[in-house]
Amino acid sequence: MNCPRIVIIGGGAGGLELASRLGNKLGRNSGSNNRAHITLVDKNHTHIWKPLLHEVATGTLDVEIDQLSYRAHAAAHHFEFQLGSLTDINRDQQQVILAPIEDDGEEVLASRALEYDYLVLAIGSVSNHFNTPGVAEHCIFLDSPEQAQRFQHYLLMAYLKLNSPAHPKDKLNIAIVGAGATGVELAAELYHAAAELNLYGYADLRQNRLNIQLIEAGPRILPALPERIALAAHKELTKLGVTVRTSTKVTAATKTGLLLDEQHVEAELMVWAAGIKAPDFLKDIAGLENNRINQLVVNQQLQTTRDAKIYAIGDCAGCPLPDNKWVPPRAQSAHQMASLVAKNIIADIAGKPQKDYHYKDHGSLISLSRFGTVGSLMGNLVGGAMMIEGRIARLAYMSLYRMHQVALHGWLRMILISLVARINRIVRPKLKLH
Ligand SMILES: Cc1cc2nc3c(=O)[nH]c(=O)nc-3n(C[C@H](O)[C@H](O)[C@H](O)COP(=O)(O)OP(=O)(O)OC[C@H]3O[C@@H](n4cnc5c(N)ncnc54)[C@H](O)[C@@H]3O)c2cc1C
Repeated sequence: MNCPRIVIIGGGAGGLELASRLGNKLGRNSGSNNRAHITLVDKNHTHIWKPLLHEVATGTLDVEIDQLSYRAHAAAHHFEFQLGSLTDINRDQQQVILAPIEDDGEEVLASRALEYDYLVLAIGSVSNHFNTPGVAEHCIFLDSPEQAQRFQHYLLMAYLKLNSPAHPKDKLNIAIVGAGATGVELAAELYHAAAELNLYGYADLRQNRLNIQLIEAGPRILPALPERIALAAHKELTKLGVTVRTSTKVTAATKTGLLLDEQHVEAELMVWAAGIKAPDFLKDIAGLENNRINQLVVNQQLQTTRDAKIYAIGDCAGCPLPDNKWVPPRAQSAHQMASLVAKNIIADIAGKPQKDYHYKDHGSLISLSRFGTVGSLMGNLVGGAMMIEGRIARLAYMSLYRMHQVALHGWLRMILISLVARINRIVRPKLKLH
């Protein structure tokens, strides 16, 4: 194949790492003889690593400072970036169809088609509200940086109201539905933000004026993690003041709160973080196979089961495990899948056999903001599963993001970026305040 066209849709935890790897290996000016034309398509101009969204939501991370420009990154890593949103795939023509781009209701770019020889879908997931009445209208989701920023805006407004004589209120009520990693981390981060905001003149904003309810349908928090970790996190959250309600199902959301069977829980802010699904438009797209949550079912080489030229990675991929479960939707899965698909596409272009994907669970870490980090590390090095806490856990947690940065920029640049972040922590406010 003469200069094959590789199109990657979605520049998140998986897609951006893949584009960077392929660009460095096969892109124009990369020095490779086996060149390819690599195009990354994303609906946004910039990338922010999704596991940081709860920090964006509370203002502890400023998107303006931490985001990465796709265009600048593409130029440095020998691939092309196109702004666009995937709407359909024409498998016969080997084309992806991108939606028109509009600005202020005016069409800037008409709908267009991009041709591919290899297509990789890496468009991530969205929150699954299981059609619970009122949730789509009244709850906030943390699926994108825009949603996280909107939450931060509502949070600051709610704090202002709390101190306004016109709306005298004793407490700010926040309900978080879903006690997985997102819900648990957000709850802790909110207490941290409250303490910081106090320092910046949000008068009389003591932590005891926060009323956070964390609601989980299952019998315990962090259902995907070992029980010991869940217990440690539960204890820490309770100490902070979070009301943890397990075995509690939300039946509806209203303008003023949540309905739990017959009980109404008042809340000014409601966050829905109870499960994920692949975006609805992936269901039956181009006749590809889906599972129950719209993910595209892939084989062990991560090719979709009905089209070997289309791969899927990360949260939008349904990759079966030997025990009849699916590879969990996590950043480490997306990272591992990106590495394998890069190798497989390079092998296929060179006419060599592709390798199988084997999910490796390296453990799970939960950050309870500055109040602590708990988690488990898995692997040969620690002889199975080992629970870790405190500083070591914090370091391991930070290393997840650092590994993502290394995959994107290499070690030297990652160290420089970390240094800049440290300096920013000294010279800038500790919280985004607007
Ligand atoms: C608050 C939060 C905390 C989390 N914490 C952790 C954690 O601690 N550890 C962990 O392992 N995992 C964590 N996760 C899960 C982790 O973020 C995801 O599993 C991971 O980001 C999935 O990577 P991905 O590449 O599949 O998708 P994403 O990283 O979500 O990237 C998808 C990309 O596709 C783009 N896109 C979407 N639709 C389209 C379209 N139609 N056309 C073009 N582009 C499109 C998006 O703009 C985005 O850039 C967390 C998630 C959240 C929300």
